[in-house]
Amino acid sequence: MDMQSSFLDRLFDSGLLIDTGVDGLYGRSGLFEDVISAFERLIDKFGGADGAEAIRFPPGMNRAFFETSGYMKSFPQLAGTVHSFCGNELDHMSLLKCMEVGDDWTKDQQATDIVLTPAACYPLYPTVAKRGAISENGALYDLQSYCFRHEPSKDPARQQLFRMREYVCMGSEKHVTDFRQSWMDRGVEMMKAVGLDVTIDVANDPFFGRAGKMLANNQRDQNLKFELLIPITSVAKPTACMSFNYHQDAFGTKWGLNFADGSVVHTACVGFGLERIALALFHTHGLDVKEWPESVRKTLWG
Ligand code: ATP
Ligand code: ZN
Ligand code: MG
Repeated sequence: MDMQSSFLDRLFDSGLLIDTGVDGLYGRSGLFEDVISAFERLIDKFGGADGAEAIRFPPGMNRAFFETSGYMKSFPQLAGTVHSFCGNELDHMSLLKCMEVGDDWTKDQQATDIVLTPAACYPLYPTVAKRGAISENGALYDLQSYCFRHEPSKDPARQQLFRMREYVCMGSEKHVTDFRQSWMDRGVEMMKAVGLDVTIDVANDPFFGRAGKMLANNQRDQNLKFELLIPITSVAKPTACMSFNYHQDAFGTKWGLNFADGSVVHTACVGFGLERIALALFHTHGLDVKEWPESVRKTLWG
């Protein structure tokens, strides 16, 4: 048995994660959720004075906005769409017959207007664009959502439905890159305060296909994405627990996010992988929260 499945098995055995029979789709215990809530309060403590507008979207987004986002160009392999039965009684009868004999009953399902949210910030841009011009002083949003990515894995840190807490900043290039740098500094400080070993490194998104390789190289060369890494399933290959993304004016242009004078805003987002952070804490300090170092417990629970 490899290291990965053994950590997952220990998480199942302890009841912290609950097996559903699908890799990357887990229930969480009350204790696991307590750790996430405590860490989110720590995020609030670090970011609370910035005056971000809090918005919570459900874990599904408007399919039209998803289409405009270009997600299917970059990450078709990760997307999850919501389909429903839309037939009549006759269709229903053949559906049930199909299920009875073990045939594929899903092929006649119709796409709905909802797509599973791939990253917490996706529903934000069209929402803000609808409101009109962005203030000269920029804009800041505080988001949290379950996100879906079709990447089944035995690695407990790679789930198909997981939560992302995000801050999204819109404004001038300097404004949003300063925002991103300040969260890189805060991220390191926060993780130190809870006893986690971190490194920060340049990164890229898993753009699909051969053309995607070039997009990924470009993203790296321009330092558009950084990750804060913490060992969870491997010390040699630590896991990204936060990411710091500078979109230049790409989202501003795509969504029509402008200042009052019509010039396009730049955007950046900072994401916390909440399950990954909880898993890093359990991996580093043990599965028994009562045994965690006093300083860590104090940072999280006062
Ligand atoms: P990775 O390289 O590990 O796939 P990512 O670059 O796809 O991560 P982002 O798209 O930047 O991650 O998402 C923001 C944060 O969400 C990540 O830093 C990570 O903490 C978390 N995250 C991403 N994918 C998953 C997943 N499959 N399961 C749990 N958390 C995830
Ligand atoms: Zn984002
Ligand atoms: Mg990924």
